[in-house]
Amino acid sequence: MALMCYHENIGESLRDMMEHNPAFRSIAYFSMEIGLESDIPTYAGGLGILAGDILRSAADLGLPMVGVTLLYRQGYFHQIIDENGWQLSKPQEWNPEDKLELLPNEVAVNIEGRPVRVRTWCYEVMGRSGYHVPVYLLDTDFDGNAQEDRKLTGVLYGGDLKYRLCQEMILGIGGLRMLRDLGYSNIRTFHLNEGHAGFLTLELIRELGFEDYDRIREQLVFTTHTPVPAGIDHFPYELIERVMSPTFAQYLRHMVGPDGMSMVDIGLRYSHLKNAVSKKHAEVSRNLFNDDSIIPISNGVHSHTWTCSGFKKLFDEYAPGWANDPGRLVLALKLPDEEVWRAHQAAKMRLLARILEDKGEELDPEKLTIGFARRFATYKRADLMLKDVKRLVDICSGQVQFVLSGKAHPNDEEGKAMLQRIYQVAKEIKTVVPIIFLENYDMELAHLMTSGCDLWFNTPLRPREASGTSGMKAAHNGVLNFSTLDGWWIEGWIEDATGWAIGPEPNEAQIIDYDESQDAMALYMKLEDKVIPTYYRRRERWVSMMKQAIALNASYFNSHRTLKEYCEKAYGIAFRGL
Ligand SMILES: *Cc1c(COP(=O)(O)O)cnc(C)c1O
Repeated sequence: MALMCYHENIGESLRDMMEHNPAFRSIAYFSMEIGLESDIPTYAGGLGILAGDILRSAADLGLPMVGVTLLYRQGYFHQIIDENGWQLSKPQEWNPEDKLELLPNEVAVNIEGRPVRVRTWCYEVMGRSGYHVPVYLLDTDFDGNAQEDRKLTGVLYGGDLKYRLCQEMILGIGGLRMLRDLGYSNIRTFHLNEGHAGFLTLELIRELGFEDYDRIREQLVFTTHTPVPAGIDHFPYELIERVMSPTFAQYLRHMVGPDGMSMVDIGLRYSHLKNAVSKKHAEVSRNLFNDDSIIPISNGVHSHTWTCSGFKKLFDEYAPGWANDPGRLVLALKLPDEEVWRAHQAAKMRLLARILEDKGEELDPEKLTIGFARRFATYKRADLMLKDVKRLVDICSGQVQFVLSGKAHPNDEEGKAMLQRIYQVAKEIKTVVPIIFLENYDMELAHLMTSGCDLWFNTPLRPREASGTSGMKAAHNGVLNFSTLDGWWIEGWIEDATGWAIGPEPNEAQIIDYDESQDAMALYMKLEDKVIPTYYRRRERWVSMMKQAIALNASYFNSHRTLKEYCEKAYGIAFRGL
């Protein structure tokens, strides 16, 4: 079957049939989390937002894709910070029926020998020209399942190892069974966005037979998203034997190796194309997984979603067609300085209004505002700037204000301690250097912050940041990046043009420890010598850098470009006529 895209000149009725008949969909994208909308709490961080952005680009570009994930009735979690700065969590309640449509289909997955029934909800991602990409959110919480089984699609990244294994069985095995039940009979590519859905290989084996290894590999694409061990699921065979079946355990022992099994191993073993999400990450992953065939496909963000209204208007005027062809953003170099500044200050005012509303704190729109927001995983080092608080105050007093946000995983005591330390320091230096912490980071806050700050901070411990995507959102809004050289920033960084580097050029190709204090020193030095003087005394230079960040970074680090690379390198689809 020829693969066609919506934009090609085909008749109305043929187009209609291709859009509505599942048999014409050829790519299934599986992800443990997907950021569909800010208020649909089925995401925890960059992995899920990336999945949402890829699906949004697929809808815009008319790519015949479907998405599969779990429903998570209690979301990830709702973050509360107590008066001591300690993070507490409660369920994020929401009503799926407000946002999604429940379908009549039902399949079952065998867990510990009993059938767990799975049904699905559907969300339609609408593209810019009306094409839609359906996303299926699997759900076990209904009458007919035992109480324990009803909870299985309750919490994203919740529970213990067994809970995770059950969720991944529902996602991989239940997900594929559901697609078949819905009529998706011609999927040519199953894309595993991280290893969580890797058990779908077992279902393909059930469909095709053990001997058809090559035909299974042909259909699978695997993207690895992190070299950090906490992000990689590992299950002992004893658990697989008990929860899945002794036959599967036996088979996996044989295929993957004798000492327990990581979902990354399944992804690598069964996929014909394996990719990492930045060039450095590919190098690190090849070493880590001992697999030279891992290629880089650098991440991107969905341009239209992550650009604020002021810049959208400017891009419409100076780079028409940018939303479906973000490469045109190179034309941002032509934007008039005053208009760039006006669009930026308007976004800044919206962020400051939100801070006033949430926290009752009034920040100064004329002051250099630095943002940091992402998951509070320790390797991301939200507290790096506090290494020497006195130095920070000396440099920033009266000149800089900070806006921070992010959740630590509820079981991550170190992450929560890091957050608490920031909270306490913020209290101490409140009068000289305001540090605002906004609770409950979500897509809406990400949008406000990556457009409303002046400078976007990222200080991961090299080389652990596979890509990072919030800095790309910042670049779309002319917000300059100031980051350690890791992930995407190695590729997007041009000193004094798109932003600034913190610390040396990286030479680590493995997860090793190094002298972290260097990074904090480099941060203070450059903030004092370069960043602050440029902001206050060379405003013209600053605005020119804003335009270069858009033209050089946003034109490339967008999910339209990423998806086209997946088409060419992983799905075997050539894009024509776009
Ligand atoms: C973009 C985004 C992230 C990813 O941020 P990184 O800096 O890449 O870690 C996390 N959470 C939300 C809500 C986002 O929008």
